[in-house]
Amino acid sequence: MSDAVATLPPVFVSHDVYRHTGYAGNHPLAIARVGPVMDLCEALGWLDAASYRESPRASDEQLGWFHAGDYVRILKEISLVGAVDAQTRARYGLGTMENPLFPGMFERAATSVGGSILAAELALEGRVAFHPAGGTHHGRPDRASGFCYFNDPVLAILALLKGGVDTLLYVDLDAHHGDGVQDAFAADERVWTASIHEQNRWPHTGAAHDVGGGRSLNLPVPRGFNDAELAFLAEKILFPLSERIRPEAVVLTCGADALAGDPLSKMALSNVALWRTVERLVAAAPAAVVLGGGGYNPWTVARYWTGLWGRISHEEFPDRLPPGARAILEGLSCDLVDDEDRRPEWLTTLADAPNPGPVRPEIERLMERSHELA
Ligand SMILES: [Zn+2]
Repeated sequence: MSDAVATLPPVFVSHDVYRHTGYAGNHPLAIARVGPVMDLCEALGWLDAASYRESPRASDEQLGWFHAGDYVRILKEISLVGAVDAQTRARYGLGTMENPLFPGMFERAATSVGGSILAAELALEGRVAFHPAGGTHHGRPDRASGFCYFNDPVLAILALLKGGVDTLLYVDLDAHHGDGVQDAFAADERVWTASIHEQNRWPHTGAAHDVGGGRSLNLPVPRGFNDAELAFLAEKILFPLSERIRPEAVVLTCGADALAGDPLSKMALSNVALWRTVERLVAAAPAAVVLGGGGYNPWTVARYWTGLWGRISHEEFPDRLPPGARAILEGLSCDLVDDEDRRPEWLTTLADAPNPGPVRPEIERLMERSHELA
């Protein structure tokens, strides 16, 4: 692989299936997420036929790179039948409150994996590939976990390794620990993982002393984690790690639940701070795959990922959104975000005001742990 940064134009990978929400009822994912990102990018003139690629559905063979054959078969079966027995529910974590059955579940999950594998292939050509429907980082080889049926980041990484990548850095900026990805590569010397996540939160793994198989960096952070603290950890730990291992590819999970205003977590980042961090990481390797992840406030999700695509593709940001883009944000709804907590700027702008804040001592103490990962 060449040592140069990506030179071809970036590419947005997605599918119209995401314009219709799949989850139903009161599930936190029963909100519009990737569809509005596509709509907003189109409304801003940031997405056209040349920069867009449709996700194929992953084949059973591709799913089998990581997932157990019986699990894939069961998932496909119950998605068709629309029902699950108690034994299957217990064995595979399917048909639960957390990982419910819904019409088209298998197709949707397999399309997310197909998109991440395509993104990996495009990255190998020297493009930054953006796939906001990816980022299901909790999925296990033989069971669903944490709203994730498959693990598309793992499959993107496997596609890059199959493409000849020898050193790869996975960075997880979702509010939850990237447990499924860390565990998948614990024994693979080619893959390093780093996760910044809120401490004392599900899945309760990823403590600072957890180095996985020896190449995993975990940075659990307290509530209210702010822009200055992200910049501190990025400059002192994350970017130096990247400079040291010189990855041939990076894969990033950019869950929007790390933003202020998310109803399921208590981190307090601005989207601007995350854009900046992602940009630096993307520039660190000749192949880059940028995935979505969690995120349960439809306004902050749409603004973060739309702006992320805008930054990756070097677009001009308007100070105030044009009427067509505002109408998309005004049309969103979410039971988990109270009316009085909805900020007016979520409807009129893309960029958040920065949340500078102090760097707290517990963040500085993470420096000590990071030295152990040598
Ligand atoms: Zn999350």
